[in-house]
Amino acid sequence: MMIIDIRKLNALKKYSGNMQMEYVADTSLIGIPFVEFVAPVKVEFSYELYEDDSLEIFGKITFGLKGKCSRCLKDAEMVVEGDLEAYFQPIKDAEDYSYTGGKVDLTKAVEDAIMACMPYTVSCGEDCQSLSYEG
Ligand SMILES: [Zn+2]
Repeated sequence: MMIIDIRKLNALKKYSGNMQMEYVADTSLIGIPFVEFVAPVKVEFSYELYEDDSLEIFGKITFGLKGKCSRCLKDAEMVVEGDLEAYFQPIKDAEDYSYTGGKVDLTKAVEDAIMACMPYTVSCGEDCQSLSYEG
């Protein structure tokens, strides 16, 4: 679970800083057939905790995809990088993300970021020979 404990940050007066996490993402986030995550998604970001206990994070996610080239079905691997930006508020129906109980769960924001940068295809490389050119 990717949890940021707001009460703890307040108690330690750590109102800003950097964090790194890993997230084992579900294959269902990938819209490409025969493709899976190579390893946990790397989540790196800076945060600012404001006086009203809202939390802003900004950073990036990185993950590897492995599977069959979408064009020729050869083995393919690629690294994808995406932006992670989210604003969490301790109120219901927040504009961006809400949290309760003094704990911010990053899962939804990270999954949204993964889906936002998810490619539609993977390619084995520039030399890819598409099946459509054969025969
Ligand atoms: Zn290919």
